Amino acid sequence: MKNFWICLLISIVSAVSAQESTEISYVCQEMTTPEAPFYISDEFRQGDLVWENFRDIGDQNKKNQYIPKGSIVYTPPEFVEKMDDSENRIPVKVLSVPSQENEDNIRNSKKRRYNSISSMVNTTGDRKRVDAGSVGWIDKKSVRKASDFTFFVTKDSPLYKTKDGVSLNDKPITLSMSDGKYDIERCCTPDSYQGEEKCFDRYKFIALGEDSIESQFFMNTDKLECGFFEDLTPIANRIVEPMISILNIVRGEEPEAAIDELELLPAYHNWSTGRPKLSRVEMVKVPLIDGQQGPFGSYHYKPDDRVNSDAYLKPTSQCAFLEVLKKHQQQCTSPGCQVHFGDAFHQDSWGVHGGHDSGECIDIRPFRKSDNTDEGFSYKWGRYDRDKTKNFISILKETGAKTIIFNDPKIPGLSRDSRGVHNDHIHVCFGENINKVQKTCREGLN
Ligand SMILES: [Zn+2]
Repeated sequence: MKNFWICLLISIVSAVSAQESTEISYVCQEMTTPEAPFYISDEFRQGDLVWENFRDIGDQNKKNQYIPKGSIVYTPPEFVEKMDDSENRIPVKVLSVPSQENEDNIRNSKKRRYNSISSMVNTTGDRKRVDAGSVGWIDKKSVRKASDFTFFVTKDSPLYKTKDGVSLNDKPITLSMSDGKYDIERCCTPDSYQGEEKCFDRYKFIALGEDSIESQFFMNTDKLECGFFEDLTPIANRIVEPMISILNIVRGEEPEAAIDELELLPAYHNWSTGRPKLSRVEMVKVPLIDGQQGPFGSYHYKPDDRVNSDAYLKPTSQCAFLEVLKKHQQQCTSPGCQVHFGDAFHQDSWGVHGGHDSGECIDIRPFRKSDNTDEGFSYKWGRYDRDKTKNFISILKETGAKTIIFNDPKIPGLSRDSRGVHNDHIHVCFGENINKVQKTCREGLN
């Protein structure tokens, strides 16, 4: 832990009057508000980049900083909700920024002729990345509502506990909402106090347990308590379920794993209609230790570069793949059982591994009789172990994966190719829209 201390998230609902040196108690009342406590930064018409311009607070013409997508920013809500349309920019204070390391890995990925992942970052030039605390102007259309996200405490943060003793560090956290509005507690000085009523709002948050709400707590968002917001990672609700499943699977091996260690490639939006239209969902890299060692004893062969930029999958697809690795490792323990996986997400424009541009497909070598040597081979060779490969393929089918291509004619129920391409690897796609794949991700394999 970065700081070895515990932060109790209890606002002190009291203040001291200077004149009388006595404590005044605020009176608090629960209500709702349409005003968001903070926003999540994204981009407006930047193309496929992981960042947006961050303009100088004193001079909006100066674009000397950039703000990564997925930063948490505070702006008085009236700037977003009520400003008239002639105002394109809003002043913000940055509360948290996503992982620098993950951004560097995107920057250091292989440069290709078209659509390089690295070009999503390496366009920042000599602009500086914003930090928590930076203030500046961003485009009004580049921020998203806090209610569309779930939050996770970042790795190596202090231990955060609610006043009923529930640890927040390992739980998803959301804002409490009623009928599309934020639940708050409005605390005001009593009418009798010095004639002038003073109020502040505290937003209600929910810490989620496995199946139900584990704790609720109120937070001031203008007075940042214990740096709590600086230590939060926002995850879009559209991918949060599979991301939580991935985290739980990974924690089976690495109990201290945190969500910000999973490397996300941000979503890409097309703005041709004037509104952000999702054209590529977020993808998440298969967690790799020491370069090529994957989860559950697996191995990533022939990575495209040292940052494994060919190992991204859609969250639901990866979740199903990890379930396969976990179950296979339980069933297959002899030499030759190690799962060797190759390319996952690959744009068609990169010229190799066509059919991998969905981010749902991955290549896996067949299994060996007795070795885990990192060398490709055909099912026609003596090293090939049909029984192990057949068992593995039956686990693939249990997940609901529909596309499985492998040329061994003695394993029934598969697609083949006529050119021998899939003699040395199984091509499998875990379609994120297939109900059974989603169920595998939610409930695991038996
Ligand atoms: Zn393939």
